[in-house]
Amino acid sequence: MSARILAITNQKGGVGKTTTSVNLGASLAAAKQRVLVVDLDPQANATMGSGIDKKKLRSTIYHLLLGQKRIDEVLVRSETAQYDMLPANRDLAGAEIELVEETGRETRLKDALDSVAQNYDYILIDCPPALNLLTVNGLCAAHAVMIPMQCEYYALEGLSDLINTIKRVRANLNSNLQIEGLLRTMFDPRNTLAQQVSDQLQNHFGDKLYRTVIPRNVRLAEAPSYGLPAMVHDKSSKGAAAYLTLAGELLNRHGA
Ligand code: ATP
Ligand code: MG
Repeated sequence: MSARILAITNQKGGVGKTTTSVNLGASLAAAKQRVLVVDLDPQANATMGSGIDKKKLRSTIYHLLLGQKRIDEVLVRSETAQYDMLPANRDLAGAEIELVEETGRETRLKDALDSVAQNYDYILIDCPPALNLLTVNGLCAAHAVMIPMQCEYYALEGLSDLINTIKRVRANLNSNLQIEGLLRTMFDPRNTLAQQVSDQLQNHFGDKLYRTVIPRNVRLAEAPSYGLPAMVHDKSSKGAAAYLTLAGELLNRHGA
């Protein structure tokens, strides 16, 4: 069986894409799943948050997308999170421009993952906060999209742009692409507005909304500074528990 590949995406910045990639990845790994996390963001937050020093990398996903390195030369192991990674650094920002002239520029990641997908149960792609060529590479490589969002007044703004991009990719490049679900992140139950927005999402998206809600939790925010997923930083934290529950929800959906 080949890996289930999820693009974790939302062009809105700071909604919890990277926190979800790292902590869901580590939680799935803790559930004995073979996991690959792909850092598709030049900010390289997923790389650093997995305890991999972006400044020391000789090979990154940049080289892979440009066809300068093979995937086995780029893969690294996160010992803290217990998953494999395709790490990134600042160089990746240049790929956008350098790929423009290249053939098959939208499917570079897909083509690279094809050769390793059978080695994994889950591949999680941490997308940048933009609907650019890097994100399109993520959407072409994925079976489905996971959309983290904060329950705030403007949460739905921009969602139509994302959905249109998904439709365009489906029409032209990846006809099987599904929207797997929307994930409520940084949730504060004491905030009335957050509750109201959450209810609206429930009415609007129903089954497409993950039942698991990720609470606002300081352990999730501080763990990356130690290069650790929250379940290693503080296993007893609410944040760690929420991502373990989310991993369980995914495994139930897809039948582990
Ligand atoms: P970007 O669009 O810049 O890539 P992102 O969508 O990947 O951002 P994160 O980096 O995961 O978002 O989160 C943004 C900030 O919020 C980070 O400082 C992170 O540590 C913090 N954060 C994320 N989730 C939570 C949470 N549930 N509770 C508290 N803080 C959180
Ligand atoms: Mg991020």
